[in-house]
Amino acid sequence: MDTVMSLSIYGDSEVSDRIRQRITALDSALDATAADSEIARLNKQKSAAVSEDTARLLDRSLDLCERLEGSFDITVYPAVLAWGFTTGDYAVPDGDTLRRLAAATDYHAVRSQGNTYTLPDDVMVDLGAVAKGYAADVCGELLRDSSAQAAVLSLGGTVLLYGQKPDGSAFRVGVADPDNPAAYFGYLSCRNNGVIATSGGYERYFEQDGTRYIHILDPKTARPVDNGTLSVTVVADSGTDADALSTALFVMGADEAVAYYRAHPDFDFILLTDDGVLSITDGIYDNFTLSDGYDFTVRQIAE
Ligand code: AMP
Ligand code: MG
Repeated sequence: MDTVMSLSIYGDSEVSDRIRQRITALDSALDATAADSEIARLNKQKSAAVSEDTARLLDRSLDLCERLEGSFDITVYPAVLAWGFTTGDYAVPDGDTLRRLAAATDYHAVRSQGNTYTLPDDVMVDLGAVAKGYAADVCGELLRDSSAQAAVLSLGGTVLLYGQKPDGSAFRVGVADPDNPAAYFGYLSCRNNGVIATSGGYERYFEQDGTRYIHILDPKTARPVDNGTLSVTVVADSGTDADALSTALFVMGADEAVAYYRAHPDFDFILLTDDGVLSITDGIYDNFTLSDGYDFTVRQIAE
């Protein structure tokens, strides 16, 4: 998953081995950029039988594509490749290429029968926007089957909170500063179990002729999002949902994200825009603390 992961588990050291094994297996099945992964095989052969986990995640992702109304689409991968985000060989595709890529981005084209998935010739899938969230869900299942009392799993920007810490204190999760991702602009203090997923342009981008091009693309245009959003953090019970939502709300931008939240208020979010406004939804508003030295305008979003 191209990231650093850290596991803190209280009360059961053996489950950490099972978690490590499962994450390694998921990574080698789901990584579209690894030549021999299940997803790479599907993209190349256009028809492939996949493992239980991959099928489960493909089905969940297709359902999320439907629910997220065009802002999230796992078939955006040919566009991700064309911009060079997988290799670092960055390039700005021309207008015709972008129109062709946008037209070919359509998750409805993915067909399945049992665990066998089929793609048209010009379609490829990428589970990069949900893989870490799904991994968090799988880890949650392993933890529930263990004797661990509590755990904090940090899967590169996606954090799973499980159980109650032995000293009874709340979990504290930092939200990365897009201008300086090693620092946190604020903290969430959480007692509930759940997953916290963040999407940010700062995670992967390139600059050309004074324009910054980020790795989150608008499926409708096949172009990097450029709507003033700097980062989106989502808190939800399901990691897969949180991860898909963080990507999708980033594509929607602040106004549409608020409208989507009001229509489907079963998650919470923190969204930072380049005018220094931090929008925080009701469910986590009181759990958020801004770090010293940040003077964002904080806006509370009611359901
Ligand atoms: P995340 O960091 O979870 O927001 O996921 C971003 C990654 O998902 C990118 O690096 C792409 O591989 C892929 N991606 C980019 N834009 C989209 C999109 N609109 N829908 C689905 N996947 C996307
Ligand atoms: Mg995501």
